[in-house]
Amino acid sequence: LMQLSIPLNFIGFVYREIKQGLADIEEMFLLLEVEPEVKNRANAPLLDVSGANIRFEDVHFAYDPNREILKGISFEVPAAATVAIVGPSGAGKSTISRLLFRFYDVTSGRITIDGQDIRAVEQESLRSAIGMVPQDTVLFNDTIGYNIRYGRWEASDDEVREAAGMAQVDHFIEQLPEGYDTPVGERGLKLSGGEKQRVAIARTILKAPPILIFDEATSALDTATEQEIQQALDLVSRDRTTLIIAHRLSTVVNADRIIVLQDGRIAEQGTHGELMLRGGLYARMWDRQREADAAAEQLRRTREEE
Ligand code: ATP
Repeated sequence: LMQLSIPLNFIGFVYREIKQGLADIEEMFLLLEVEPEVKNRANAPLLDVSGANIRFEDVHFAYDPNREILKGISFEVPAAATVAIVGPSGAGKSTISRLLFRFYDVTSGRITIDGQDIRAVEQESLRSAIGMVPQDTVLFNDTIGYNIRYGRWEASDDEVREAAGMAQVDHFIEQLPEGYDTPVGERGLKLSGGEKQRVAIARTILKAPPILIFDEATSALDTATEQEIQQALDLVSRDRTTLIIAHRLSTVVNADRIIVLQDGRIAEQGTHGELMLRGGLYARMWDRQREADAAAEQLRRTREEE
């Protein structure tokens, strides 16, 4: 029994680590076949997606019963709209995306998609309706083409190339020695954070889910990469209900609505223009980011001159 329990503990550990990183959950369950914390109700019906309207209704959540992370969150992402969640580090932004994907169940309140409580529907149908572009995408030790086709196995080579084009990663792939057949991952070519994120976007384009969660990378990207990711995101989020978890602010300017989270509560919400006029937390975060960007730009110029 001892011999068995150690690997099981280890798998539990790996599972929690991966789960925290919002890695590809479907693959993870397939690989590890671990008992998920969240279970299907008996005879749970499939999620029936019409417009993909998302609602959080007075959602409370705690990882640890002594420390509430979300303290009564209510908001709506109307069908095909883009809503961005911003706020200081630790405010609970990524937690919102984990709850929507049902990694965890809410402590109280509810989350619905087209009026169906996500706890009442079959999990697999919920997860197949959501395309998740995580902060840090784990690539398989296989070719870059395989990593994109993972979004939909039946996709033709042309469809894979088209998805790569929409995700703005095609030029990068075409200049690789073996193009789409180039091995990537731990044992192959190492991709930068921005490149991996675009591979994840290409995958999601092939999967074509009605709901998209984009968890922006925390690390700073150079301006050109950021613009490419922004363009890719604009393309995939069109006609799709999109939730952006934004760790920087540049991504959110064009969102239909921005929700500013502070200490587990919604401090303010509105469009970029409305929030700037308001002169509250968002406007202060924006000013601070602009100063930080200007300082980084200055540093880069000084380095170039040296
Ligand atoms: P950042 O911008 O830094 O990524 P965030 O707003 O996305 O932050 P969350 O990742 O949602 O923040 O975390 C909110 C709080 O919940 C943090 O204080 C964090 O320490 C805590 N937390 C996150 N995951 C867990 C976990 N698995 N167990 C316990 N506490 C957790």
